Amino acid sequence: MRILVVEDEPALALRLQQTLEAAGFAVDLAYDGEDGWHLGDTEPYDAAVLDLGLPKLDGVGVLGRWRESGRTMPVLVLTARGRWSDKMAGFNAGADDYLTKPFELEEVVYRLRALIRRAAGHAQPELACGPVRLDTNSGRVSVDGQTVQLTAQEFRILAYFMHHPGRVVSRTELTEHVYDRHFDNDSNVLEVMLGRIRKKVGAELIRTVRGQGYRLAEPDAP
Ligand code: CA
Repeated sequence: MRILVVEDEPALALRLQQTLEAAGFAVDLAYDGEDGWHLGDTEPYDAAVLDLGLPKLDGVGVLGRWRESGRTMPVLVLTARGRWSDKMAGFNAGADDYLTKPFELEEVVYRLRALIRRAAGHAQPELACGPVRLDTNSGRVSVDGQTVQLTAQEFRILAYFMHHPGRVVSRTELTEHVYDRHFDNDSNVLEVMLGRIRKKVGAELIRTVRGQGYRLAEPDAP
């Protein structure tokens, strides 16, 4: 899952990036409203963390423009002031949730996981496909009840498939949702990762759909 963080305080932006990356997300940073709006308008993020007080274009303006142009990713708004009028303005512009500064960094992680899961249509924190289970809160993955250790990259890829079971996911879509914008799309890293994941969770779980991409399916499904 790939997250956009728009926050003009460099120290907080960096701490958010480190925390989210440690929790298994790919993260892009923007430090002002214009850059943040542009990235969110052109890159396919699974969610955004958006500060309201930003230089060049404020958070409400950024969010309003995203929603006007049909960008529907969940947005967690950060507000320094905690005033109800600020929160209301954020919700009216299309925010899905908000946090008042100062906040616990871990709370951002938990709220984002819940927002992304619900946006994909899953009410429960545990996602299942055949013998494979993925707990979005703890990050635990198991096959037939046995815990499987995945690297952060492997986890991001499997989590994306588990959020979108049964659907064909193109290579481009997968790359755009599991790596940040500095990823080299021409490399064969993705195929290597898929090979490792199949070894750990079962070769039949992630099918290759010739000429189209990949599809997560239960092992005994056609
Ligand atoms: Ca700010």
